Parts: sequence; C-alpha cells; structure tokens
Amino acid sequence: MTLVGKPGRTGALMPLEEARERLLALAHASPVRESESVALAASEGRVLARDLISTLDLPPWPNSAMDGYALNLADWTDEPLAVSQRVFAGHAPEPLAPGTCARIFTGAPVPVGANCVEMQENAQVMADGRVLFTEALKAGQNIRPQGQETTVGEIVLPAGTRLGPIEQGLAASLGCATLDVIRRFKVAVLSTGDELIEPGQPLGPGQIYNSNRRVLCSWLARLGCEVIDAGILPDDLPATRQRLAELGAADLILSTGGVSVGESDFLGMALREAGELDLWKLAIKPGKPLTFGHFNGTPVIGLPGNPASTLVTFALLARPYLLRRQGVQAVDPLTFQVPAGFAWTKPSNRREYLRGRLENGRAVIYKNQSSGVLRSAAWADGLVEVLEGSTLAEGDPVGFIPLSEVLG
Ligand code: AMP
Ligand code: MG
Repeated sequence: MTLVGKPGRTGALMPLEEARERLLALAHASPVRESESVALAASEGRVLARDLISTLDLPPWPNSAMDGYALNLADWTDEPLAVSQRVFAGHAPEPLAPGTCARIFTGAPVPVGANCVEMQENAQVMADGRVLFTEALKAGQNIRPQGQETTVGEIVLPAGTRLGPIEQGLAASLGCATLDVIRRFKVAVLSTGDELIEPGQPLGPGQIYNSNRRVLCSWLARLGCEVIDAGILPDDLPATRQRLAELGAADLILSTGGVSVGESDFLGMALREAGELDLWKLAIKPGKPLTFGHFNGTPVIGLPGNPASTLVTFALLARPYLLRRQGVQAVDPLTFQVPAGFAWTKPSNRREYLRGRLENGRAVIYKNQSSGVLRSAAWADGLVEVLEGSTLAEGDPVGFIPLSEVLG
C-alpha cells in the first residue's frame, strides 16, 4: 500500500486548508488538457482551454453615449450651429462639416471632426432648426472612446475561465461564435450502502431513499461535468472491486458513504488492495472522514454519506479539485464575513460549517444541524463558518459561503 501524501497523522485531525492544498496539488499534477470547439450557445459552465484574445477594438470606433448633438469645441460660440447630418446607431456618418453640429443617437459612431457630444436635454433647438449650446462643454464628453473596453491583442479572458452568462456575453461582443473549451470532465457518481434504494420504489425495512446521488448528479451537471451515473453499490468487497473496475473511463470516481473507518469501509479496502489509499480525518463538521485514492490509475474521492456531510465536503474539497483539474485557478469558495445572528458557546476542535442564511445582514442558522438533515441546507442560503476552538457572541464576525456561488 502506498500512502498518497504525508503519513503519520494517525489520530490527528487534518486542517481543511491542508486537505485542500493536498487535493489541489494532486489535481494540478493531472490536468485534463484535451479541448474541443463548442458553439458559444453551448458553452455554459465550460472552461476556456486557451486565452480569449481580442481581435477587435471594442468599441471599434468612438460612439455617442447619449442622444444629443456632436460638435467640435472650436465651433462652439454664443451662436447656434446648423445641423448638417443625423447619425443613427448602425449607420456610418460623414465627416462633420466645419461650423455645424450633427444630430446623434446613443451608440452611433461620432463623425470625424466632432470631439464632444452634448445631451439633447441641454441643447436648445431654435425656431430655424439651428441648435444653441449654453452649458459648459468639454472635449470628449459623452463619447465612448474606441477601445475603451478592449483593444486588439488583449487577453480578455484567460485560459481556465469558467464560462457563465457574463463571459459568454463578452465573447459575443467580440464576435466569437465558437470557443475552445476543455472537454467535459467525466465524473462517475457512486452511492454506497445496503440501505439505499432509488425514489419510485417502495421502501422496505431498514431502507432509505438515495438522496446524495441526486444532489451530486445535478450539481456536477451545473458544473459542466459529464456525469456517469454509477448507481448504488452494495456494502460488499467483490462488488466494490468490480464496479470500480468498470469506471476506468471516468476522470474521477466520486463515491458517497462507507468511508468512516469501520467494518463496512469497502471502498477503502478496494483502494488499499489496488495500491493507493489515503484516509483523512478532517477538522471540519460535518464531514470528518474523507478518502482519496486511485483505482487502476483513476482518482477516487470518497465523501462521507450523511447528506449534509456530502454537501459540505463536495463544496469545500471535491469541487475545487475537479475544477482545478480543468485548469480553473479560482476554486476556493467565496467567503465573506458577516455578523453572527446567534451565539455559539461550545468551542469544537473541528471547524463548523453550519447551514444558515442571512437575515437583516446577520447569519442565522437552521435549528437542526445534524449531518443527516438535508433540509437544513434547503432552508439555508449559505454555510456559516465557525472556526476551530472559538465561541461566538451575537454580532461577532463569522465566515459566510453563499451556496449559490458554490452550486453554480
Ligand atoms: P456511511 O458513511 O455509509 O456510514 O453513511 C452515513 C449515513 O449517511 C448513514 O446514515 C447512511 O444511511 C447515510 N447515507 C449514505 N449514503 C446515502 C445516500 N446516498 N443518500 C442518503 N443517505 C445516505
Ligand atoms: Mg454506508
């Protein structure tokens, strides 16, 4: 048996940062590099395989930020100016005739020769149609300069950027109809436990419905992954060996349950036989036990089975790992500080990730924080982080990780 990473921490709890660093180092060492070209409209959640470089100045020409009049400051006197042309968005103007102004609309190219735009509210149209400018004018006012957003050759989005609505909009503004993205990351989702059955079947004695599978399959789809649904695995060593062997096409096997070092840790046994296993006892709650190993060269992450533990360990560890393997740099969950709307009197040697929400700017927590209660997370809109060994009075700062961010 080879231990992946540092041995000798028997009994000691591993700080979250250490576990994450170790997972990220492993992820960094086995990046998925194969890329494919996808239509912009099909790029949601995908990761850019190479830098998106601008082939345009954006905007391509100076344009008006207002409905109004374009003129040259040198022509601005107490006398009204004749309107020599009307410039609409989508149309090319003539150069501005000296001593005149141009009627112009938002987004229309500013005629050569004009160097400022006055908004129509400040312009006085005379009976003869000429326009008087009475307010102070400045060169460049109300003109969006060429290249204000980007210039040709600039890296607009670096490789490793995840593509959401905003990134897709930016690519569209540069005229990209297709994008080079990392091929879909393949995750095999495995639910272990003799007690599990799927929704739709009658519940027998001792059985529970498999909820982790649904959580992880939906979540992974949101993360742009290709999900290989590997079903339910009974608590049995030969079955575990065989199922793992069938999943060699995956980039990652993600299993839940059976990782608490016990008699039914068949995942651990199978990985140990296959040569590589690391069992971590994390200093977090929920979610203490976590398994990392390889089976025939395929990485395996074993998350704890309690639904809230699965959620927390996926958000804090598995998600960063699988994003980093696709080259994403910013993988740590966004955390910000908010005042606690509750008191915490019992310090723990594990960092707590309480399911909570923001009410009037303060973090409040669900009444039942049992790791078996998924409802806590449905009620919550974030994970409230209480550091190891700390107590809290109401109003003390606590970390808050929005679920909307980690889920997307
Ligand atoms: P384990 O880690 O296998 O000891 O499981 C811990 C707890 O989580 C047990 O109460 C299991 O019944 C429960 N559990 C494990 N897997 C799932 C699952 N896929 N869906 C819902 N609950 C589960
Ligand atoms: Mg189990």
